[in-house]
Amino acid sequence: MTASPAAHNYAHLDETLAKKLIQQAGLGDIDQRIANGTRLSLEDGIRLYETPHLAAVGLMAHRVRTSRHGRKTYFNINQHVNYTNICIYSCKFCAFAAKEGEARGYLMTPEVVEQKVREQLHRPVTEVHMVAGIHPTMGYDYYLDVVRAAKRGRPDIHVKAFTMVEIEHILNISGKSEDEVFADLRAAGLGSCPGGGAEVLVDRVHKAVFREKMGPDRWLMAARKVQRHGFKMNATMLYGHIERVDERVQHLIKLREVQDECGGFMAFIPLAFWPYHTDLANFGHVTTGNLDLRSIAVARLMLDNFPHVKAYWVMLTQESAQTALSFGANDIDGTVTEEKITHEAGTTEPQALGVDQIAHLINEAGYEPVQRTTIYEEIGERQATHA
Ligand code: SF4
Repeated sequence: MTASPAAHNYAHLDETLAKKLIQQAGLGDIDQRIANGTRLSLEDGIRLYETPHLAAVGLMAHRVRTSRHGRKTYFNINQHVNYTNICIYSCKFCAFAAKEGEARGYLMTPEVVEQKVREQLHRPVTEVHMVAGIHPTMGYDYYLDVVRAAKRGRPDIHVKAFTMVEIEHILNISGKSEDEVFADLRAAGLGSCPGGGAEVLVDRVHKAVFREKMGPDRWLMAARKVQRHGFKMNATMLYGHIERVDERVQHLIKLREVQDECGGFMAFIPLAFWPYHTDLANFGHVTTGNLDLRSIAVARLMLDNFPHVKAYWVMLTQESAQTALSFGANDIDGTVTEEKITHEAGTTEPQALGVDQIAHLINEAGYEPVQRTTIYEEIGERQATHA
């Protein structure tokens, strides 16, 4: 028997009771600042991470989510194409990358990318998500060609491609001006950027686990360039390894500042670290449900200028992603298809979910599944149901 949506979440929790719970958790002052529209500080963020009262933090985040999105929970029908795992860098948290010449290294030609997109023509896919390693020798035209290839395979598909690390690399090898490169990418068919590669935007973590790759300032600068050239993007944070609580909150504040400046971020996506087969494997454990839910909730409360917070089911697990919908998340990502990066690091989640499975997760948690495009235009329910 399916219980009513209201029975599954606290969307209808009596406000007096909610206030009492938050007061008893010692978070009444933060709750008042949220109600007043006063921006939360670094200290507020740290308290929200450190309080034992997770339910109270979740409740505050849920209130904000509900005030902006009601019970709507977004998903899309997408596919992933990781066009190469060959990478010049050796980030310690990465199980995906291979060096040139290694047996497990691969590089897709543009024709293979086109074929991958064509293989999904029987499904109503609206987005291809393309990120990859930084290949040592492929030239500027290759990056334009993989975007063109995806559009050839399916002309109406939205190409969401290139982390800020790839964007900086493309700019560096182009021999062209910034304006020319973004014009070329747009003409090739780039629609938006997924926003990865940020990891944790503080120097200590950068030096410790991904020192060869761009650090915080360069990531933020690349994001500004992308947004100033009119592309929308997301932003991620890889949490649950060596970063401290205050560093997570600093990361959120830096993103909030860029959003004030440029306004091009769509969703914030906390990425749970999977240690297996990485140089941090001795770290020993995956993130806990407590940290996953708290990361979603704190992000919702700190990022007052981000419209969407996404519970990416591949990394969170379906169970945590579903629960995260009551802790501030209003998006559960998409059907995915052939995810490689987290699977190399040990997730046992499937490589894809059907629309029915996603809708079930959302419905069963008491929310309303709404299919969206990459840039959060709503797609009619009929199309979603029959996908
Ligand atoms: S995280 Fe990205 S840049 Fe770093 S090693 Fe892996 S593929 Fe390369």
